[in-house]
This record gives sequence, structure tokens and C-alpha cells, in this order.
Amino acid sequence: MNIPRSNCPRIIIIGGGFGGVSLVEKLSKKDVQVVLLDKNNYHTFQPLLYQVSTGGLEPDSIAYPLRKVLIGYDNFFFRLAEVTEILAEKKMLKTTIGEISYDYLVIATGSETNFFGNDELEKHAMAMKTIPQSLNLRSLILENFEQALLTDDYHERDALMNFVIVGGGPTGVELAGALAEIKKGILPKDYPDLDTRRAQINLVQGGDRLLNAMSEKASKKAEEFLEELGVQVWKNVRVTSYDGKTVRTKTDLTFETATLVWAAGVKGATIKGLDAKELMAAGNRLPVNEFNQVVGYEDIFAIGDIACMQTEDTPNGHPMMAQPAIQQGRNLGENLIRLLDGKPLKPFEYKDKGSMATVGRNKAVCDLKNIRFQGVFAWFVWMFVHLFFLIGFRNRVVVFVNWVYNYVRFDREARLIIRPFKRDYSQFKD
Ligand SMILES: Cc1cc2nc3c(=O)[nH]c(=O)nc-3n(C[C@H](O)[C@H](O)[C@H](O)COP(=O)(O)OP(=O)(O)OC[C@H]3O[C@@H](n4cnc5c(N)ncnc54)[C@H](O)[C@@H]3O)c2cc1C
Repeated sequence: MNIPRSNCPRIIIIGGGFGGVSLVEKLSKKDVQVVLLDKNNYHTFQPLLYQVSTGGLEPDSIAYPLRKVLIGYDNFFFRLAEVTEILAEKKMLKTTIGEISYDYLVIATGSETNFFGNDELEKHAMAMKTIPQSLNLRSLILENFEQALLTDDYHERDALMNFVIVGGGPTGVELAGALAEIKKGILPKDYPDLDTRRAQINLVQGGDRLLNAMSEKASKKAEEFLEELGVQVWKNVRVTSYDGKTVRTKTDLTFETATLVWAAGVKGATIKGLDAKELMAAGNRLPVNEFNQVVGYEDIFAIGDIACMQTEDTPNGHPMMAQPAIQQGRNLGENLIRLLDGKPLKPFEYKDKGSMATVGRNKAVCDLKNIRFQGVFAWFVWMFVHLFFLIGFRNRVVVFVNWVYNYVRFDREARLIIRPFKRDYSQFKD
């Protein structure tokens, strides 16, 4: 890997997500060698992926070069590599660009879409966890309308304009709202020769309410907002299969659709070597103690989505969200310095700052620590918070300008099929 051995201890961080980046920043003042490995050369701001999928933002505005995070830090290295195996007894990693040894290892690999072992769903459904997946979805949505224009079979046309989103968490709610706004504001202008009123947006939720990690009031209001926008919300419905054409559920309800978006779950993105079933906690996450040390290892730590810290308040670990990852990254940074200085470690304490979701223009719900509110003000707060946490000054400016432009012009100009998504439409012909 061409990384010189120095006199300083080597800390390897796998993953430049929210957790990995906040850890790097904390280590910058210490005499350590830090090696950041990521399979992408950029950090992804996942909360805004749905805006890339729906043409509201260009992908570059929610990504940040990881090399730039390390600029100005001596003895810090980045390598573009996927870690394929952890050899804990040898303190070595196997990667796609060779092997490397570590003194301390931090696993910050985040999570991946969980299809709960349903291979057919995994094959046909669209996931939205990475920028390439969001671009695939953007292309597919637009290609469906181009295809709908060409067919004179109205069953096929309806299936092409029917969108099914599974999962009523923030991702599902935000995507459904954005699609509904496209249907209302953009499709009639872009496709005057297509009856786009027949386009349908279905949001399917297994439980009895949307946004079930938020307050009842936020759930109710989000549902109201979605219905105002014309989204069909289906609750207590569990999807069982999708063959690329028909969505089947545990009830009699079925949908004919060319697009099923799976936003119904994530699981820890584990790496071979530490993925033994007996080691894993719920959701395929690595069990860690209060210092984020992986149970059974003194020199291996895990932070963010991949880490499951079970406490009295968090029996299933912390929520798989940006804040726990950022806060664990910072706390671990301070703890690694304490460890090297021979000082006692400080247990992690999560400061829950609340949660929020947006449904569309002037429509959002916020549950902050001591106050809950919905509507226009919540929408402004949502925008401010997302701009604040977005990494990179340029990204903040670009996103802000785009939002103002979209708001004033009722537009989403990034509706481009730059990289076509290969979809087999032949099954809709019979
Ligand atoms: C669509 C969507 C919307 C979301 N909205 C919100 C929201 O509104 N608010 C909120 O708080 N949270 C939201 N989240 C969740 C939030 O993004 C995650 O909780 C957060 O990103 C977790 O941070 P992390 O550092 O653990 O992992 P990540 O940010 O996922 O970073 C993991 C990194 O590890 C790298 N990696 C993975 N495996 C390997 C490997 N084997 N080798 C090398 N590199 C590897 C990846 O490339 C990635 O860069 C959303 C997530 C999604 C998908």
C-alpha cells in the first residue's frame, strides 16, 4: 500500500462515513499514524440521497472527497480500497489493494440494505443506500415515463407510472413526498401527451403508523401531508414478493409496477473475519462495550451503524442514524488519545437531539428534545439542519442555491438520464 511504518501507533479506520470522518478530525492533534480506507473516494451524505433520486440535487453536491478531509494532517493516509477480511490474531487486514497491519482498528463500515433473505426481492427491487443506486433510481423513474409514452397498452402504461415504496420510515416518507411533487408540478409539463394524472405513488408500511421512531403526532401529520399530496398510504401491509412486475403482500392487496423501492430495513455492513454469527447482535451489528470496543477484542473498535451498544436505554443499540455515528466517532477519538496516554477511557453517552423528516414543500415534522412541531417552520428547521451537517462549504452553497431555485421555480432540473438503468420491460407485454 506504500504506507511507511512510523514510530507512532497505526490506527486504521475502515469507512469514511459520518463516524469515520468525525473520528479522523479528533485524532488530528495526536502523534499517531492514521490510515483511512474506503471503497469510495468520497463521503456520502445519505439523508439527501432521495433528492438525487428525484432530480432535486446533483450527486456531486452530497458527496465530499475523502482525501480533502485529510489535507493538512501529517502522517494521515487515505487508500481507495475495500477491506475484504480482518485477520484479528495477526492484526492484519486483507484488502482489494493488498494487506496492511494495524495497532488499533476502527470499523466504521455503516450498513447495507436488508432484504431479510428474500433473494427475489433483492434481484428486482431498487435500493437507495448509495449514490450509484440513487442514480439508477433516477434513471429508472425517467425511463419509465419515456416508455409509458411509447406503449398503447394501458395496463402496461399504468404499471410504468405506478411507484411502490416499501418502508414508512423517513426515507420512504421523503421519497414518496418528492415523487408526489414531481407528479403534480413537473410531469404534466414534461409529458403533455401522457395522462400523468394516472401516475400513482404507493407507500407501504408493515406497522400501524409511519415514522414509528417519532411521536404519534409526527406520524399522523406526516400521513396527512402525504395524503394531501396524493400519496396512497397502506399501513399494516407486509410485502412478501416482487418478481419485477407484481408486488404481493400478506393480504389480498397486490400492485402491478415497474418500480419497487425497498426502504424497509438495513443491517450492519460486516466484514469477513468478524462476522461469526455468535458474535453478532441484532441487525447484523457488532456488539461493543461502552467504549465502542468490539466485545472480545481490546484493539478493535466499532462505531456508527455497524456498532451495537446495548444499554438499559438502548436494548437494541443506538438508532442507525447520523448523530450516534458522529458522537461515537468523536468520543472514540478522545478515548484513543486517552488509551495512548495511559488514561482511563470515558464511556459513551448519547445526546439525543431529536429527529425530523420532510414530506415536501413547506411540509415537515420535527421532534426535538423538548418541543415538537410540524409544517412550514419544521421545514425550515429541517433544511437548516441538513445544510449545517452537510460536509464541505461548496456543497452547502450548491445545495442551498438549488433549494432556493427549486422553491421559486417549482422545478427539479437534474432530471437527466445520464447513465441509463437497464430495465427489462418485456414482462409487461403479455
Ligand atoms: C436514504 C437514507 C436516508 C437517511 N436519512 C437520515 C436522516 O435523515 N437522518 C439521520 O440521522 N440518518 C439518516 N440516515 C442514516 C445515516 O445516513 C446513517 O446512520 C449514517 O450514515 C451512519 O454512519 P456510519 O459512519 O456508521 O456509516 P456510513 O455513513 O454509511 O459510512 C460507511 C462507509 O464505509 C465504507 N465501507 C463500507 N464497507 C467497506 C469495506 N468493506 N471496505 C471499505 N469501505 C467500506 C462505505 O463506502 C462508507 O463510506 C439515512 C440513511 C439512508 C440510506
